[in-house]
Amino acid sequence: MEQFRLGASYYPEWWREEEWEEDFAKMEALGFNVVRMGEFAWSWFEPREGEYHFEPMLRALDCAEKHGIKVIMGTVTAICPAWLYKKHPEVKGGNAKGRYDFGGRKGQCLSSEIFLDYAAKITDAEAKALGNHPAVIGWQLDNEPGFPFYDFDPCCTKGFRLWLEEKYGTIEKLNEAWCTMMWSNVYNSFEEIDIPVNACEGGWTKEIQLDYRKYFSFTFHRLLRMEAEIVRRHSPNRFLYTNWPGANWSVDCFEGSDYLDYAAWDNYVPQPNGENYRVQLRASMEHSFDRRLSCGKHQFLVAEQTPLPDANTPASVMRAQTWLNVSHGAFATVFFEWRSPIGGAEQAYESILGRDKQYRTNTEPVLRKLAAELKEHYPKFAKSKTVSEIAAVYSYENSWGSEDWVVDGPYDEEFFNAYGGFKNVLATNVDVIGIGDDLSPYRVLVMPDHRITTPEQAEKIKSFVLGGGIVVMNTECGTRDEYNRMREMLEPGLFAELCGAKVTENITAQKLSRQTGEPCEIAFPDGEKVTANDKLFRLTLTGAKPAALYTNGRLNGTPAVTIAPYGKGFAVLYATDGNDMLFYEALARLVRNEFNIKPLLDVDDGVLVSSRQCDECEYIFAINMKDRPVAVRLESPMKDELTGKILDSTVMLDAYDVLMLEKKR
Ligand SMILES: [Zn+2]
Repeated sequence: MEQFRLGASYYPEWWREEEWEEDFAKMEALGFNVVRMGEFAWSWFEPREGEYHFEPMLRALDCAEKHGIKVIMGTVTAICPAWLYKKHPEVKGGNAKGRYDFGGRKGQCLSSEIFLDYAAKITDAEAKALGNHPAVIGWQLDNEPGFPFYDFDPCCTKGFRLWLEEKYGTIEKLNEAWCTMMWSNVYNSFEEIDIPVNACEGGWTKEIQLDYRKYFSFTFHRLLRMEAEIVRRHSPNRFLYTNWPGANWSVDCFEGSDYLDYAAWDNYVPQPNGENYRVQLRASMEHSFDRRLSCGKHQFLVAEQTPLPDANTPASVMRAQTWLNVSHGAFATVFFEWRSPIGGAEQAYESILGRDKQYRTNTEPVLRKLAAELKEHYPKFAKSKTVSEIAAVYSYENSWGSEDWVVDGPYDEEFFNAYGGFKNVLATNVDVIGIGDDLSPYRVLVMPDHRITTPEQAEKIKSFVLGGGIVVMNTECGTRDEYNRMREMLEPGLFAELCGAKVTENITAQKLSRQTGEPCEIAFPDGEKVTANDKLFRLTLTGAKPAALYTNGRLNGTPAVTIAPYGKGFAVLYATDGNDMLFYEALARLVRNEFNIKPLLDVDDGVLVSSRQCDECEYIFAINMKDRPVAVRLESPMKDELTGKILDSTVMLDAYDVLMLEKKR
């Protein structure tokens, strides 16, 4: 993208047509240059079966174009019109209480061939009617695919059985993979398999859960792939994406990069609040994830973002958040939403204009400034990329297989803490990748809780370390097979030889604390002590050296973190679930000091640092997410592109302020 796209979601179907002009004119005056429209407009486009009305949306597109506003058009399949629900009750999805009644959004059954057929028809008609309008620059497929996390109905049961048959071939193979001899859960045929919606004790075994989640994800990709094919046919030269609510999710977002041009996500991460700036590391993680999902383009979109500051936070926080997006590779930020709805499920939702059509709070000058500075500065690095030597390895299997699956469950929290801890302490770019990705660009891999690991994946990690890489993992890595069964070996499973250590005892921190009467701690070599929160393991070393020690009870003096040389590289093993970002920050400091990892900038706590690399130079972004000034120390004078000032050795960066420093390569 040559220019940055800043704008908002807008729903012309909610408002009187004579108001559209005023809205688009206001957006233009603010400096906005994009809107996202149409993603819930099925009933507007097709009020009765086969009766299409695209003329009003075409007039809205003309109006946007007249005011220099480009449009991201949405396909409409995240909702389902009442006439379709009534005519074909089969299209209703369901939850544990039964099939959904009509109302709200989502909830249609993506296993229903009838629904897929209607979804193809409306997408085809919409893409044909709107896809060549000059205002349309891109398409959003569906909306936040992955809600509502489960779908239980007869179509899904049937679809799940077929999917399992395709996967396993014979029922004997499935029985073996699912360990069904336990409690006589053996099946004689795929027809006997039900989704254990209302199962007795132990119904959702870890094996069934993992396969169900894979099937659930598959149903969304089947819909999205179909829409992508239709939209590309009728609306060429437009970019395609879908807006993931976040990447750690109920759909495997890695798979989306097979058929989408970009990834996007909806940034509803809470705004930083006083000292609690670390919440913004979650946005950093999602950005890095989406950069990976945009398949080598080093760019992504933020498809939704809160357009208001929290109470007691200045509006400038929105500028800091948007520059955080940009610093990680965003080429667009679309606020949700332009006008506050007067009714419906999102009555009075947060918006840029209030119900009186006036700007809410003091956001207008901030948005105006943001639009102007992005217009001026974004083209300088529009073709840049993010170069990182650190990557955190994410795995959907491990998220879905970890516990009774929930969004932001234990695996996802652990992953976030690991990413956040390393990003914050190393003050450099950290990528998010999958274990199947090319590992050669990286020097350090952080892979928390990668329990499910195939022998091939384990070999790949060993080769990475043999060749000089550094891997950071915990004792639970490599302990489960691809079906989510435990391996017949103790922690760290397939990685015991690599890590030069094995587990001889496990214990919980709570139990140890009860015995000693004090919190269980880990002492790091720089003198820092952090609390150990959850599972702890006693290690026997077979080649590793201790790097941090437990300090309590019968684990006192035993290694909590070890480092083992392997080939030209090293394996860093931690014998605990980190369960806490402060633990990972201490671990990141240990890795930084041991392996001499350089930050992009020397900054105080609270400043998030990332960079974008161009042919001639690298732009380093420093964003203060604290509510007070903090220090950024420069080795030599540098120019801040945003103000044009040459900055000396130490700069006090104001609350929520941003630096864009040019570094010649
Ligand atoms: Zn269903």
